Amino acid sequence: MRDRIVATLLAVSALPAFVAPLAAQDLGASVRKIRDGIYVYAAKPIDSNVSIIVTTEGVVLIDTGQTPVDARAVSDIVKKLTPLPVRFVIHTEPHDDHTVGDYVFSPPAVVIAHAGAAESMRKANTAQRNEQMADYPGMRDALKGYRKVLPHVEYKDRMTLNVGERTLELVYLRNVHSEADTAIWLPKERILWAAAAVGVKRYPNLRPFLTIPDIQAAVKMMRGLNPEVVIAGHGAPGTTRIFDEMERYYGLLTERVGKLAGEGKSLDQVKAELRMPEFDDWEGKDRIPSNVELAYKAAKGQNLSQ
Ligand SMILES: [Zn+2]
Repeated sequence: MRDRIVATLLAVSALPAFVAPLAAQDLGASVRKIRDGIYVYAAKPIDSNVSIIVTTEGVVLIDTGQTPVDARAVSDIVKKLTPLPVRFVIHTEPHDDHTVGDYVFSPPAVVIAHAGAAESMRKANTAQRNEQMADYPGMRDALKGYRKVLPHVEYKDRMTLNVGERTLELVYLRNVHSEADTAIWLPKERILWAAAAVGVKRYPNLRPFLTIPDIQAAVKMMRGLNPEVVIAGHGAPGTTRIFDEMERYYGLLTERVGKLAGEGKSLDQVKAELRMPEFDDWEGKDRIPSNVELAYKAAKGQNLSQ
């Protein structure tokens, strides 16, 4: 009898997909368990999130870390979770603080992003960013072997990725943060990665080519998926309350800027007069002027079309 049990245990442990249950606390304070086999890593609350999705056919990562040190930490965590390799890396956006760690996983990982990501990454001065961080603890070691990995696959608009028992739906988000933003939806698990279309208690970084109506439409589309868990590009995983907060912010911003613009105020006057006391506890107040610029543009556009 005992031999049979041992034989059964050996057979089970020989399966490549067998993963011993591991409490999230064993993975360190930077890791949050979302569901069985799904974890989110961020060393600091303001850092970009790296998500680890374990499947029976290997691991899918969503983004690769704020810094190379984070990518190395994630690599160590993956090894504790499964003997299987990282098969795919999906970028929520092309910026360095989400993609700098690709070289730690690729090869063998195949990197997937929306069309336009490679061009954006090629233009980024990642070497200079790495040099500026080189004196951070552990950075010199983490940077060994660094090279810029550009996406191997650039999809357009939508893509479905089936890995093991999991299905991942990639959806392009137009004009929400960068040249190539991707939301990732796990329909069975009801988990949504919302990229930098939303933030958690922080003002968005709104570049001039973005539009607030596009961001609002993206949030509406993502809310329509009815997720149970929402994970922003940066900030703690949460629920659709993250969408509530962002919709409230953009609603009040466009309403107040629209009112001031309608009174004939100049952009500089609006910047000086606008008050958003409801969001006083948010990080990144230096981004408010760029937010006002986009809202002002939207208000003027509306006025012109009326
Ligand atoms: Zn970014």
